[in-house]
Amino acid sequence: MSESKRSFKPVSGNVMPRFSGIATFMRLPHVTDTAEVDIGLIGVPWDGGTTNRAGARHGPRQIRDLSTLVRNVHHHSKIRPFDLCNCADLGDVPVNPIDLEDTLKRIEGFFAPIHAAGVAPLSAGGDHLITLPIMRAIAKDGPLGMVHFDAHTDTWDRYFGDSKYTHGTPFRRAIEEGLLDPKRTVQIGIRGALFGNADNDWGQQQGIRVIEIEEFNDMGVEAVIAEARRVVGEGPTYISFDVDGLDPVYAPGTGTPEIGGFTTQEAQRMIRGLQGLNLIGGDLVEVAPPFDPSGNTALVGATLMFEILCVLADAVAGRRSA
Ligand code: MN
Ligand code: MN
Repeated sequence: MSESKRSFKPVSGNVMPRFSGIATFMRLPHVTDTAEVDIGLIGVPWDGGTTNRAGARHGPRQIRDLSTLVRNVHHHSKIRPFDLCNCADLGDVPVNPIDLEDTLKRIEGFFAPIHAAGVAPLSAGGDHLITLPIMRAIAKDGPLGMVHFDAHTDTWDRYFGDSKYTHGTPFRRAIEEGLLDPKRTVQIGIRGALFGNADNDWGQQQGIRVIEIEEFNDMGVEAVIAEARRVVGEGPTYISFDVDGLDPVYAPGTGTPEIGGFTTQEAQRMIRGLQGLNLIGGDLVEVAPPFDPSGNTALVGATLMFEILCVLADAVAGRRSA
């Protein structure tokens, strides 16, 4: 980072114990001035796009709590994200829990100046519809590529008659709006019963590379990483991780669990395998604490956010020195 910047570091767990103090993402400073921030960690506590079991509005608060367990250095890649970049907790988007359209505008309005300031966002949802207004704010220079971990494609069309905006539709809308390049999009872990045969066809017709969980198991993690890297290429790429991509054994605290998913370690290895891509942001969505009183799903979410943060910080720092 440049010398003129203040350095934003997590509060040392040897100065103030990690269980103490006011919880922020990864014990980072909470700031509202983005001038000196490289990567902003942002909560989007909203689940108004949920079509079944709500509760993800409570995700950011519990993820912040469990994220205080995160330390500074990635044990395997040795990446030190807080040394590579100025990371900060930018707080929560002030959502409107009773108005979907208003909330989409509020989320876009929160992220737009952050993007304009050159800050890469890493967000905690909230349900998966939050990714649509985030993309509206950050895909200003052309459609993004995406590595998408999920049990569901989230490219369905309409719900309950003619409702276009739910957590099952964000990527259909993002493609229609020119925010997301389907030919640079890979979806990993897809499974679960459908309403109809055609539900998942549309995305593949647009050119999305869909890796159902059966193909994932046949290919193995390393081949899936290679395929994901091939699909997204060198262009700007977003990571969107729906915690229901994991088997509900590992992440029961989510609204639409589907059995037969990948493991937490497979998820960690896949995210690490994205190091070196042109990553510009990411999110971790659908942690719904009311369905997991143990808090483990939020710990999983916080830890996977740290995995994403490590590869994102490596990319941000790499672009700065290029
Ligand atoms: Mn899902
Ligand atoms: Mn999803």
